[in-house]
Parts: sequence; C-alpha cells; structure tokens
Amino acid sequence: MWYELGMIQITRRRAMTTMAGSLPLLAAPAWAPHALASDVQRFGLGVASGQPQSDRLVLWTRLTGERLPSEVSVTWELARDEAFKDIQSRGTFVAEASWAHSVHVEPRALASNRWYWYRFTALGQRSAVGRTRTAPAPDAEARLRFAIASCQRYDVAHFAAWQHLSRLSLDAVVFLGDYIYEGGSPQGALRPHEGSVANSLETYRARYAQYKSDPSLQAAHAACPWWLVWDDHEVENDYAADQSQTLDDAFVQRRAAAYQAYWEHMPFSLAQRPRRADMRIVDRFRWGKLATLHLLDDRQYRDPQACQPAGRGGSTMVRLAECPTLRDPARSLLGAAQEKWLADGWDLERPWNLVAQQTLMARFSWRDPAVEPLYWTDGWDGYPAARQRLLDGVAARKLGGVVVLGGDVHAHYVASLKQDFDDAASATVASEFCGTSIASRSQSQARIDTARSFNPHVHYGRGDRRGAVVFDLDAKHLQARLLSVDDDQRADSSVSTLASFVVEAGRPGPQAV
Ligand code: FE
Ligand code: CA
Repeated sequence: MWYELGMIQITRRRAMTTMAGSLPLLAAPAWAPHALASDVQRFGLGVASGQPQSDRLVLWTRLTGERLPSEVSVTWELARDEAFKDIQSRGTFVAEASWAHSVHVEPRALASNRWYWYRFTALGQRSAVGRTRTAPAPDAEARLRFAIASCQRYDVAHFAAWQHLSRLSLDAVVFLGDYIYEGGSPQGALRPHEGSVANSLETYRARYAQYKSDPSLQAAHAACPWWLVWDDHEVENDYAADQSQTLDDAFVQRRAAAYQAYWEHMPFSLAQRPRRADMRIVDRFRWGKLATLHLLDDRQYRDPQACQPAGRGGSTMVRLAECPTLRDPARSLLGAAQEKWLADGWDLERPWNLVAQQTLMARFSWRDPAVEPLYWTDGWDGYPAARQRLLDGVAARKLGGVVVLGGDVHAHYVASLKQDFDDAASATVASEFCGTSIASRSQSQARIDTARSFNPHVHYGRGDRRGAVVFDLDAKHLQARLLSVDDDQRADSSVSTLASFVVEAGRPGPQAV
C-alpha cells in the first residue's frame, strides 16, 4: 500500500515535468556554443529501468537536443525514497555521441524485493524521476503483478493503455515486440510517422525518439522496470535472421543499424551492446521462489519462412498440402542453440515457468484443418516441428506451470497448448496468453470467430480491441485480465476488462472466470 501513495506523488511530479516540456521550445541562440541553454530539453525521451534481479537492475535515459558534445558526463542517483534524501548509490556515466548519448547504468549490491527511485542530471538539467524495484531473493516467497504488451504502432492510435498501466502498481512490464514500426505513414494518419521508412541508424534513432516522446509511454517506463524482447518491426516486417522481406543484399547492414538503435533506446546492459548485426536478448530471470521468466528471440536465429512466393522473402498463407517444407523437422523458429538453451533451462523447482516470446504459439488454422489446413507462415504455425519439440520437452519434464506469453498478432488469444493439436482429447501441456496490441490494427473479428471454431483449444479470440493483459501471480494461481481501450483515438480513453481467466499451478490450461 505504501507504494500506492508514492505513485500518486510521482504522478504529480511527472505532470509538472510534462507541463514544462510541453511549452514551445525556443531555438537556442545562434551564439551559444553547444547550445547548453535551458530552453533545450535534454531528457526529452524520459527515463526507464529494466531487467530486475534480486541485487541489480539497469537504469536508462538518453540525452536529446542539438549540438551535444561528443561526450557528456551524466550523473545518476538511486534512492530509497522519492525525495532522494536516502541515497542508495550515485555515480557518473559518460554518454557518447556514437551511442546516441544513451545512458545504461547498472547499480549493483541492491537490496532484494525493494522499490527505488532514480533520476539523472546533465548540462544543468534534471530528468524526470523513475520508480523501479528489485526482484525477491531466489529463496524468498513472492508474488508478481505484471503486464504484457506489444505492437504499439504510433501513427494509428493513441497509447491510452500505457496511461492506464502506469497507474496499476505493476511490479514489471514484459514487452513482447514491435516497439516501433519502421514504415512510413499513410495519408491522413492520426499522428503520422516523421519521415518515410526507417532503414538507417539515423532514421531508426529518429523513429524511437518520436515514439518515446509519447507521455503515456514515458509514464509506463517510469512506473516500474521492464523486460523487453523485439519482434520484426524493430527492423523490417517479416525479416528472418539475415533475410529481408525484399531479399535485399545489404540487409545485414540494416539489421546492424536497427539493433544498435534498439539497444540505445532500451534499458539493456552494456554487455548486451550489439556487435555489428548481433545482439543477445535471450535471457532468463528468477522471481523469488515463484517463477522463472525465459526471454526468447524468434527473429535473429530463425530459418526463413516456408514456401515463400517466388522472388521475395517474408511470410504468406499456405495450404499444408502444398507446402511439405512447413513440416521439415530441420527448420527452427528459435535456432538449434536457443532450443537447447530453453530445453536445458526449464525450472524444475519453481511452480511457474513464464515464456516471454513474440507470437501466437497455439495452432490456428484459418480453414477447417480436417478439410484443408491453412497456416500463416510467420508464426509458430510456420514451424510446427519446432513447436512440437518445445511442447514435448515440457510434457517430458512434467512441468505443470508453463505459461507462454506472446503478442504480434494484434488480438487477444487465450489457449490451451496441446501435445497434439489435431486431437482435442490430447493432454494440455501449457497455457497461453497472447495479448492484443497497444495500438496496431488487426484483421476482422468475423474471420477470427470463424477460425476459432476450427481451433477448439483457443478459448478466446478478440482482434477488434487495443489493450494489454495484466497478471497477478502467486504460488497457487495465475489470474489474467484482458484489457480493452474504449476509444483508441483518444490519449485519455478509459480502459475496461474484456474477460478474465485463471490458471491453477500444476494444472495447465486457462479457465474462464
Ligand atoms: Fe505488430
Ligand atoms: Ca510482429
């Protein structure tokens, strides 16, 4: 309860910061070298924290504005109280132009299961205050309240879901990909993307800066730590490892630029800084005695989508009969190394294994599979042998609390993951919650409703609403609330609950409540 009070205060402080930031920015006077004047906003993208462990986490910000020196010393403070009277630790970080003046601080030796406040100071300005927390000690009883979110296409809708989530006293957010969309905007877009397609370091940086200027997104980052994975649109729609949708020969350079800009804008550690076109986001975190969270990467290491149309990469819809490649057991969505990492790393002690990955895992045939199975090749349906290996591994270890979390498809789906999706009587080995998009559009509800009748293990499907999913997890139960933004064209829209489900520990399969 005490942090509820803290939340109200921090919200008021942030409102003041936002008001100041919304004043028209005056151009720096031409005679001022490096434009260090106070009228240039230096913390215009807010603050963030991430990757909470029991003794450490990552703090982030990025300096903004014209004429920044190539190196800027940024002071950071981490406090046990919101007034910064009780400082846990402080230090300086040298922000470099070559990494977009981003700041990635990793305070260590923190107390477990504790809330902290943090802020940054540079060039005579101070950032907004962020609130963050550590994980409980690995041997401690624990609860966890978190949200999953994905797919925040800025130009088509407002981020009202983030405003709502920032007020829910979440312990953490798990972001599952499509933080930005790389394309240009159509005529008449609600809030058009600046510039056309992002495809270089400068244009990806500008796209992140535009998205991160959103006050609701900033509030959600400042409210609690996040774990993040990417999907395709942080780079290019439907890319697969080093293959572009357009089969562009120079795609590896584009991927390197996109990964660098991603790292620059997220609370990732220095050790994760990309090397050319490679960045490791695969990771594993413990939350007390309660859960292990596995963060997967289904983009960087995947085989190309099966049965691509002549002359291009990317995904398509295929009839199973016309695409035997689909079932080739040599094909993988995660790559062999990551499959082994996951298989060897299941937590056999804690009641819950949470799998944070990008897309819908449940089989979802778009026509009656008894007549003509029809699959989308970009998701797990495009890699059914790899999915079978994963679920067989869960069944073999008798893991009763595997929960797969996903996004990507811009619809809420709740499913029982079956050992054999063609046999409704086969064992349910895991539970799935695939959350709808923060902003991106879906296909028609009528198509989803029709397809759901062919896929009885999918208990719920709703594509006409934007939102997120909020979870309350304890040793016995996982409770899930599927949220819906009432009017996605309004930044201040109310948010309501569409449906609720519960999963009992040791008993896979979501149950409607
Ligand atoms: Fe998306
Ligand atoms: Ca996607």
